[in-house]
Amino acid sequence: MRTIDFRSDTVTRPTQAMREAMIEAEVGDDVYGDDPTVNNLQDYVANLLGFESALFTCSGTQANLVALMAHCERGDEYIVGQQAHTYRYEGGGAAALGSIQPQPIEFEPDGTLNLDTVEAKIKPDDFHFAKTRLLCLENTQNGRALPMEYLENARRLARKHELALHLDGARVFNAAIACKVNVSEITHYFDSVSVCLSKGLGAPVGSVLCGKKEFIDTARRWRKVTGGGMRQAGILAAAGLCALNNNVSRLADDHENAWFLANGLKKVTPLDVQFEESQTNMVFVTIPKDDVKPLNKKLKKKNITITPGRQLRLVTHLDITREDIETTIHAFKQFYKK
Ligand SMILES: *Cc1c(COP(=O)(O)O)cnc(C)c1O
Repeated sequence: MRTIDFRSDTVTRPTQAMREAMIEAEVGDDVYGDDPTVNNLQDYVANLLGFESALFTCSGTQANLVALMAHCERGDEYIVGQQAHTYRYEGGGAAALGSIQPQPIEFEPDGTLNLDTVEAKIKPDDFHFAKTRLLCLENTQNGRALPMEYLENARRLARKHELALHLDGARVFNAAIACKVNVSEITHYFDSVSVCLSKGLGAPVGSVLCGKKEFIDTARRWRKVTGGGMRQAGILAAAGLCALNNNVSRLADDHENAWFLANGLKKVTPLDVQFEESQTNMVFVTIPKDDVKPLNKKLKKKNITITPGRQLRLVTHLDITREDIETTIHAFKQFYKK
């Protein structure tokens, strides 16, 4: 029996069509730049996001790491959100492998970094201090799409202080759908953008980093250094192309399902559902402490998988249907009827 898996949008499995695209992919040795499918994917994403060049990477973590290493040198600093993926969930790679000092600051409730705080953290040019080199934003942040006018203000601040501006755009297509804009209207504010193919887009592996040609050449070097030079990677890139060709506009279905789920659960006492207008494919639900174990057990019996805790993050994706959402709301209702 299939499970309804809300843990993340990374749990999707490749469709038959995607598997066939992988089988049929034309390949070559990508370390020599010879893989036509990887080259197609890179050109396609660069063009879509409005950049000169792009680089296929093993993961979003690797895309962000090589981006930071291409922008910053040893002893430089980057400003980043306290809960941002690059700072919090990537094993401290920027510091551990790049000798780049993070300057984390708290996110605002809407997923932005307060730009006055950012400005106050920029270090003066003085050898006592690390050189502040880069500002890193995340869109979506915890499922929230950043306001469009914020991006413009962030760009202005970065320009004023000659900081590079990187976007961790793991879910930037969700942001574009939520803001009803072309994705390039978001990405054009940034010097570099990383995008995940293996989240809501449904590919099994891979991310793409975009930027200027010279920047991508440096990033390619760091990709090799970090063990990410892959050979006949067109097999994977074919899945990415398939995902981009078929699964971008359907992200709107995931957002509708999340909204439907949030509204269904809002009617169940004592659940505390957080779902603002800028939310995309994630619903956050706080439950009473004593319910953590029994609720998880109940959901498991119904083949519903969650990451148990007091604050649940329920993520919708292409392997979750409207019917699954109804089943899930029903399971919560049954649990709280007792
Ligand atoms: C998933 C994710 C990444 C990269 O993740 P990988 O698992 O390394 O592919 C980066 N940033 C954000 C915001 C993410 O959600």
